[in-house]
This record gives sequence, structure tokens and C-alpha cells, in this order.
Amino acid sequence: MAEEFDVIVIGGGPSGSSATAFLSKAGKKVLLLDRAKFPREKVCGDGISGRSVGVLRELGLLDSFKSVEHQDMFGVTFSSPNGTVAPIPSASGSEAPGFVCRREVFDNVLFQHAKSLAAKTIEGFFATDLLFDGSRVVGVKGNFDGKEHEFRAKVVVGADGVGGITARKLGAYNNDESHQHAGIRCYYEGVEGMGDKIELHFVDSAVPGYFWIFPLPGKRANVGLCMVVSDMKKKRANLQAIMKDIIENHPVFKPRFQNAKRATEIKSWLLPLASKRMKLAGDGYVLVGDAASLIDPFTGEGIGNALTSGKCASQAILEAFKNNDFTESSLSNYPKALWAGIGNEIDTNHRMQRMANSKFLMNLVIGKAKRSKEVRGVISDAILNPSNHKRLVDPLFFLRALLA
Ligand SMILES: Cc1cc2nc3c(=O)[nH]c(=O)nc-3n(C[C@H](O)[C@H](O)[C@H](O)COP(=O)(O)OP(=O)(O)OC[C@H]3O[C@@H](n4cnc5c(N)ncnc54)[C@H](O)[C@@H]3O)c2cc1C
Repeated sequence: MAEEFDVIVIGGGPSGSSATAFLSKAGKKVLLLDRAKFPREKVCGDGISGRSVGVLRELGLLDSFKSVEHQDMFGVTFSSPNGTVAPIPSASGSEAPGFVCRREVFDNVLFQHAKSLAAKTIEGFFATDLLFDGSRVVGVKGNFDGKEHEFRAKVVVGADGVGGITARKLGAYNNDESHQHAGIRCYYEGVEGMGDKIELHFVDSAVPGYFWIFPLPGKRANVGLCMVVSDMKKKRANLQAIMKDIIENHPVFKPRFQNAKRATEIKSWLLPLASKRMKLAGDGYVLVGDAASLIDPFTGEGIGNALTSGKCASQAILEAFKNNDFTESSLSNYPKALWAGIGNEIDTNHRMQRMANSKFLMNLVIGKAKRSKEVRGVISDAILNPSNHKRLVDPLFFLRALLA
């Protein structure tokens, strides 16, 4: 007989840990499964935004990050294809609106918290298939300790990221190359000129993608580059070669990396973007985080939406338990609430992503941002205050920027 739970969460990254914590706190019997043993690494820029901070606060976890290695961040520095550098500070205040934390560290804090609340957690469990009763998902099958195991539940939460099985098995995997980023990243030691801001650089050779430097303590940095996959293929762009060229030859970055040493190999990974809306709920299941293709199409930020989707899905699941209704129609309250919260922002940022293809516009906006406090304010709002993105894609904003 397969062991029974209220909810099975497949994947213990930010989305799965968030869902597990919210559901367990509400009294549900949750089984948390992950193929990895924590702490585990995840290819990422390690930038933790304001949206993430909000959910971490709700989970009561914000203080836990004060005691692990991280770097507080107070804004974003942009540079344009013509080399103009514009630092955009966050609104004043002593508390950092975001931070940079290696995912091996960040995810472990979240996972251990979720594990402490879950009814049962199995690390090293490789989910291989979902169990169905007709079209309804009723459980999961997988391998652990050299044996095959089955578990059953009223609801299965697919939180197994890009490399997982749930989205694929449910026909909800985003394989549209115009809605995926390809990203590479590595760690450097001894990078010069870093401050208290994350850095996004629209370097001429990297557009329509961007190069990033996210500072970590002790002159260490998470360094990477990403681009929409269809653009990358059209341009026949080799991301590693572009990044190497920027670091070794670009007049702004060469001096900053002159004495720096790459500390890790360069790893690549896919970012499924929320500009493509996938089916996120069905009979007996929901998908969250990267398994649900929820990454911001402009900034590449996915942790905040992963944590938020875990929370939003939990609310719909708790409602489903109240009504004893685990059908698609009941669980679809989750995508409805999620898109009501983040849908406009995603649409706006998708337009910003396409706008960033224009070197002319990036030179214009970043050039004006360097000179105009008003333009800096709009960008700061747009990047750091998710509800205020609209002004940045307002054509009048560009007209004003041009005349400023
Ligand atoms: C290059 C790059 C840079 C990025 N930079 C940033 C950034 O700076 N800031 C930001 O906010 N976001 C960034 N992101 C996006 C961010 O990494 C993801 O959005 C985030 O990790 C999604 O969390 P998740 O919990 O949904 O999935 P994941 O973090 O991928 O977790 C999925 C979990 O599922 C487990 N799993 C997978 N398959 C199975 C299976 N078959 N059985 C059991 N368990 C399984 C995995 O072991 C893993 O622990 C970046 C992504 C990339 C690729």
C-alpha cells in the first residue's frame, strides 16, 4: 500500500519549500521530496529581490539570513551599449531592500525550515512519474535507496524546476525558445569596483542579452550572462565567448577583472519565462516556480515569483481542503490569484525585454538616468517596486526622457 499524505511537494527549492512551509503551518500533512541532498548548488545569479524579502518576512525567515553569508544590496547599476554607467539607488532607508546570497546557502535555509515543518521529507528521492486515476493526479512514483516507492495525496505540487518531470508529464513544459533565457554563470574572486548595488550591463556585444556582476562579500562576485534562446540562435551567439571577451577586452570591465581569478567552472542553465503562460493547475495538481515557467522576462528574476507561487498555491490548496474539492476548477483559484498579482508586471517586463533589444533606446534611457534624478526615480520604482512598472514602458516617459 502506498503511504498517504494530504499534499506531496516534488522539489525543495524556493517554490517547493515555500509551499511546504505554508501548508504545514496550516496543519496539512505534507511529504517533501527532492532528488538532491541539501545543501545543494543551483545555477543562478543569487540576487534576492524585494519580492523574495516580503515572502521571507512572512515565513519568519528574514532574520535567519542575517547570520548566513550574504551581501546587502541597495539598488542596481546599469550600463548601456555605449558604455554609460548609471547607478540607481533604492529608496533611502537603513534596511536593505534585497541581497545577494549563494543559492547553496539561501536554499538550504529555506529547505531546512520547510523540512522542520513537513510531516516527512525524503532527500535523494528521484521522482520518475506521476500516478494517475484517469486524468486526475493522485501521487508520485520514484526511486530512493535503490528501490521504487509510491506515495499518494489529494494534491501534488510540481516544484521540480526546469529539469524536473512534472511539467513534462502534464504537458505544461515551456519549450518555446522565444520565451526562454539561456544563462551562464561562474564565481570570480578579486573583482574591483563593486559597491552596494547589483550590476546589469547591456554591453554592446551582449545585446540582446545582458552581462551581470552581483557582489558577494570579500571582492567575490557572481558573474554571468543571459539571452533569449531564439535571439541567441538567430545571432549564433556563443555566450561563453561573449563573456570572456567582455572580461578580457572591454574598456570598462577589463581593468575591474585585471587581477581577478575565476573560482569556479562556467555553468549554464535554462530560464523558463513567465511571458509564456502555461497551464498551472489541473485535477489533483498545481505547478509552481520554474516548473510553472514564472521567471521575469526582463530581469531574469525567478526566486521571488517561485516563493510567491508557493504561497499562492498553498492558499488555493487550503481552500480546496475546506471544500473537499480537488478538481481543476477548484485548484485554478491558484493561477487566477497569481496572475492577478503578477500578471501586469510580467506583461510590462516582457515589453521592456523587447525594448532592451534596441541599443538606441538603452543608450537613451541609461544616458538620461545618469543625468536625471526623475528618470532614476522611475527606473528605481520600476525595478525595485514591482507594482510601479507601467511608467517605464509609457511612450511619454521616453519623450520626457529625451527632452529632460
Ligand atoms: C543563470 C541563471 C541566473 C539566475 N539568476 C537569478 C537571480 O539572480 N535572481 C532570481 O531571483 N532568480 C534567478 N534565476 C532564476 C532562479 O534560479 C529560479 O527561478 C529559481 O531557482 C526557481 O526556484 P524553484 O524552486 O522553482 O526551482 P529550483 O530552484 O530549480 O528547485 C527545483 C528542485 O527540484 C528538485 N528536482 C528536480 N527534479 C526532480 C525530480 N525528478 N525528483 C525530485 N526532485 C527533483 C531539484 O533537485 C531542486 O532542488 C536565475 C536562473 C539562472 C539559470
